[in-house]
Amino acid sequence: MNRISHWIDGQVVESSSGRSAEVFNPATGEQTAAVDLATVDEVDAAVATAKAAFPAWRATPLSKRSEVMFRLRELVDANRKEIASLLTAEHGKVLSDSLGEVARGLENIEFACGIPQLIKGDFSEQAASGVDVYSIRQPLGVVAGITPFNFPVMVPMWMFANALACGNTFVLKPSEKDPSVNMFMAELLAQAGLPSGCFNIVQGDKIAVDRLLEHDDVAALSFVGSTPIARYIYETGTKNGKRVQALGGAKNHMLVLGDADVDMAADAAIGAGYGSAGERCMAISVVLASESIADELVSKIADRIPAVKVGPGNEAGNEMGPLITGVHRDKVKSYIDNAPGEGASVVVDGRDDVPSEGFFLNPTLLDNVTTDMACYTDEIFGPVLSVMRVSGYQEGIDTINANPYANGTAIFTRDGGAARQFQFDVQVGMVGINVPIPVPVSYYSFGGWKSSLFGDTHMYGPEGINFYTQAKVVTSRWPDPAKSTIDLGFPETR
Ligand code: NAD
Repeated sequence: MNRISHWIDGQVVESSSGRSAEVFNPATGEQTAAVDLATVDEVDAAVATAKAAFPAWRATPLSKRSEVMFRLRELVDANRKEIASLLTAEHGKVLSDSLGEVARGLENIEFACGIPQLIKGDFSEQAASGVDVYSIRQPLGVVAGITPFNFPVMVPMWMFANALACGNTFVLKPSEKDPSVNMFMAELLAQAGLPSGCFNIVQGDKIAVDRLLEHDDVAALSFVGSTPIARYIYETGTKNGKRVQALGGAKNHMLVLGDADVDMAADAAIGAGYGSAGERCMAISVVLASESIADELVSKIADRIPAVKVGPGNEAGNEMGPLITGVHRDKVKSYIDNAPGEGASVVVDGRDDVPSEGFFLNPTLLDNVTTDMACYTDEIFGPVLSVMRVSGYQEGIDTINANPYANGTAIFTRDGGAARQFQFDVQVGMVGINVPIPVPVSYYSFGGWKSSLFGDTHMYGPEGINFYTQAKVVTSRWPDPAKSTIDLGFPETR
């Protein structure tokens, strides 16, 4: 059995905990590896290593830190297929989707290559007579990342690229469900010239996370995962005096107005609802269909579903893979089991014709869903698309704004005025106009509102640079003996 261990100080370190978690190939249902689960001492060892590496790394010139990122960019680019296949083997998503994940992660490394420009401060000459004022941004120290199973390589890249480029050292606690790909990333970071100890991985569960949350030498934590854990991470981390950004779950709505191109909306609903088997925090899970086009839209989505090729992610041509575990597949299935009893109609039933091995569930379409049903209130995180019928724009926007989650949303319309009003009215962090999965490019920042994000700072892009640095403002005057006087008054600028 393959064993996956920690990466500390530039090498693989096995755990002595005697505890491990099972890692599966979701396409076959077979266990392929066991991942070590860290002890408190092992987390302490990773943090101590990162702390020891920090002074030299923060003193490394910007051009050299940038050079490491450029080299990493080349290595990730050259190893796209290897990274994607590692990802597919443990996550289950199809290879084309894994390649897309690598590509979007890589954009964050490319952004971080520009660190000399990104980290520049401001300078004000002659703020008072003979006085200059300038600001500088300095790294925080040891920062930690705790990441979810659904984007096992892209989400860590959201974090460590900017964190390292800013001069911090990093401890990653990846999801225990698909940990292998980050061990490969650790090797690439070493090949790129990152000094040992700057990037460390502890494999683990709540014990490891809780130690990172309370460790005095961890300055900041970035978290991505489900809302209950995000809230816990934010509350505990901030109580312990740390800077925290904690991104949580989602329930993303796509509002289709009566004037929309219904074929385009149906295509978008299929891609955004069933891509990666619905296990994306930006997946569309609710289609708000305006009454005038609702029947047409439901039938066009239903007509397209049989063409979605479901099967093992490593077989060419497949478009949707299995879910992450059998337990999760059964939970998703329970929402379909319960939907008719709550009054929804199952238009396409994904429980039919499911492959006998692996954690598969086929695309499912529910209609006549209402806001009191569990399939609406809960984040299902599977290939289940719910259609809710609304009278038009106002009922649609009211429904979206009443939902406690606010990660992403989209409007489909040909009316520019309605789209602009939607952008103005909607209380959601990331908005698509005829774009179903509006994940911001790496030079903007990613984050939801309300229960989809705890903390003030969105992830990656300019806000990522702010999160991983602290500002210092220097007020400076060079002595001019001819003018020196004693003045006990509060310094004035005029
Ligand atoms: P999860 O919350 O179960 O786990 C995330 C991380 O937290 C993992 O590393 C896990 O080991 C750790 N963890 C789990 N339980 C813990 C506990 N009790 N105490 C401390 N740490 C704990 O999430 P997941 O199932 O891996 O990922 C799916 C979730 O992540 C979905 O809710 C999805 O919407 C969300 N997500 C959000 C975004 C976003 O950007 N908002 C992006 C990706 C995923």
